[in-house]
Amino acid sequence: MTAHILLVEDEVKLARFVELELSSEGYRVSVAHDGMSGLAIARESEPDLAILDWMLPGLTGVELCRRLRATGSTVPVILLTARDEVSDRVAGLDAGADDYVVKPFSIEELLARIRAHLRRAQEPDADVLQFEDLSLNRRTREVFRGKRGGASLFPERAIELTAKEFDLLEYLLTHPRQVFTRDQILQHVWGYDFMGDSNIIEVYVRYLRLKLEENGEKRLVHTVRGVGYALRE
Ligand code: CA
Repeated sequence: MTAHILLVEDEVKLARFVELELSSEGYRVSVAHDGMSGLAIARESEPDLAILDWMLPGLTGVELCRRLRATGSTVPVILLTARDEVSDRVAGLDAGADDYVVKPFSIEELLARIRAHLRRAQEPDADVLQFEDLSLNRRTREVFRGKRGGASLFPERAIELTAKEFDLLEYLLTHPRQVFTRDQILQHVWGYDFMGDSNIIEVYVRYLRLKLEENGEKRLVHTVRGVGYALRE
């Protein structure tokens, strides 16, 4: 798969040079020469990595980065900067940049940083459990369903769950397709000392389904009659 890199650099000659180098490495490259066009491309095409010059007409690279992060983008960002002061680096990192390269830079150094960030972005996040179009983040306790980016019948949406609904879904997501018995679910989600009615599972499964299928999405939490529950297509 070819990685798509966005390069926003107002020095046209430098932009052309970097673009050619990246293309010859096999990357697909989009180039913008000012901040606003860069932001538009980033939002439209969701690149795999962005290289942003710090000083840009219209919108600085740092501000561009901040705006991307504000809309939830996690694209790796490398800032190009002619400044070498520590306070500037901190401002860039505060804005959500992942790295910076100081001008003048060697193209080999930039290429090495790009490879490192693309590799890191491809490693699966151990805190994120996924099944079909459903994802759950154990660290932030966020749940999303739907397709990210582009036109889709079911664009990605956040799902608000209560603490117990979250725990139940997290447990089912640890082993998609595996059937969990009612006892297993009670013990893991409600605890060994739970003394209440075991119908509580049905009640919470119903809540979960309502929220997961709110827009008419297909069912993922299935009842396995006489046994328990499983996540399935
Ligand atoms: Ca510049």
